This record gives sequence, structure tokens and C-alpha cells, in this order.
Amino acid sequence: MKCPYCGALETRVVDTRPVDGGLAIRRRRECVQCGRRFTTYERPQLEPLMVKKRSGKREAFDPDKLLRGLMLACEKRPVDPERLKRFAYTFEDQVAGPEITSEEIRALEEGEE
Ligand SMILES: [Zn+2]
Repeated sequence: MKCPYCGALETRVVDTRPVDGGLAIRRRRECVQCGRRFTTYERPQLEPLMVKKRSGKREAFDPDKLLRGLMLACEKRPVDPERLKRFAYTFEDQVAGPEITSEEIRALEEGEE
């Protein structure tokens, strides 16, 4: 995990403990570069974003799958792979509702280019 203070890529976990009666994990991290500490929480996501396929089937949104699709689609185009990663991994936060159709995902992808 990236350091939120200086942006260094390497941080180490100095403490890990369960919180909320075991429903979440709290990790204390220390930046290898600037030495500052910050805390992250890891929780299960109870309501994953659902993707409604054209066939009517629904499946849980998978950022890695979206990223693979984007990589393939952009293979022969000069698109920064970092930008694709950012798009895929922040996608869930950009969607307002609990469900999205595969067509809507495609429209958002095209808006990104
Ligand atoms: Zn740092």
C-alpha cells in the first residue's frame, strides 16, 4: 500500500489486530521512506456491485476482469496502463447504484478514452 504522506510504494505492517468483534482487521503501517504511520481497515464488502449481463444473468463486479477486458481492448492503442488500472480499481466507487448493466460499463469505458 502506498504511503498517503509521501507516496512511497513501500510500507510495512507494524501491527495487525481484529476489531469490531472480528468483523474487521486493523493494520498499523509504517512508511519505509518517510517513517510516518497510518492505519488501514480491511472489511468484507457485504453488498458487492452487481453487473447485469445482456443475457439477464447477474454477477458480482470483478475489477480484475474489467481490467483484463480494458487491456485487451486497448492493446493496439497508446493508452497508459496505469490509467486503465486506476479506472478499473476505482470503478466501484464511481457507480452510484447497487447494480449496473454491462452496456453501462462499456459506455463508461468509452468515456474514459
Ligand atoms: Zn512516506
